[in-house]
Amino acid sequence: MKRMQDRVVVVTGAARGIGAAIARRCAEEGARVAVWDLRQEDAEAMAKALQLSYGVETHGCAVDVASSAAGNAAAQAVLARFGPIDGLGDNAGIVAGAQLKKMTEEQWDRVIGINLKGVYNCTRAFVDTFLAQQSGSIVNISSVVGVYGNFGQTNYAAAKAGVIGMAKSWAKELGRKNIRANAVCPGFIETPILGDMPKEVLDGLVNEVPMKRMGQPEEIAASVAFLLSDDASYVNGAVLEVSGGLTI
Ligand code: NAP
Repeated sequence: MKRMQDRVVVVTGAARGIGAAIARRCAEEGARVAVWDLRQEDAEAMAKALQLSYGVETHGCAVDVASSAAGNAAAQAVLARFGPIDGLGDNAGIVAGAQLKKMTEEQWDRVIGINLKGVYNCTRAFVDTFLAQQSGSIVNISSVVGVYGNFGQTNYAAAKAGVIGMAKSWAKELGRKNIRANAVCPGFIETPILGDMPKEVLDGLVNEVPMKRMGQPEEIAASVAFLLSDDASYVNGAVLEVSGGLTI
């Protein structure tokens, strides 16, 4: 029997990058997967691809995680389709960097709205079902930037530190109900989010990683799948850095 056989997992920002890898890994391990992303056609295409590749039931839905109304409506659709869910991967995120003196209120609000409030919105939408069934696993995708900060990323660092704080708060609040919450902090992972970064900057960053390479989305997905699964049944409130040793 597969590790996540017949479990139900919701992954946000799952049409590409790390979210897509998490959705794929969960489907490969037997889970039924709800794919949430900004555009309906992208979410549906990923859901269909997973169904074809792994033979699991899937559901693709357009959700802007910054909207609590959208999150609530999509959560109701998932519950109607699959029944109670077992796992939530709070992954959707963006960057909109600038040094503090140049950062606009719009940049601040947009990143906080998606990367921080989005995690609150989506988890809030499922907390009643987790509490009713007295089980569940929540994984917030943070970043090494949330622990160590980063030049030109006031908004992103604040949001990523915030999702660690939320995971720890939920670990304390919900742990007694057998609901676990953890955070994963990726380092530099090869996805479209790094798209705008000049090659020489990227090369410089990679040189700082003891393993001398960027990580792959699948390497984050493996950690997230572990935390979502019963293999992590006593892991609660953890902050797992997956960065090739970047910060040591
Ligand atoms: P990505 O390749 O840009 O993928 C992000 C996905 O989220 C895209 O499908 C995007 O849709 C979707 N999305 C964006 N805004 C959304 C919203 N408001 N509601 C729902 N979905 C939304 O990024 P990634 O590198 O996979 O990053 C995934 C997560 O890992 C993020 O939280 C990021 O901060 C974190 N992370 C990444 C790295 C890295 O090096 N890649 C490092 C540390 C942490 P569109 O394509 O339509 O915009």
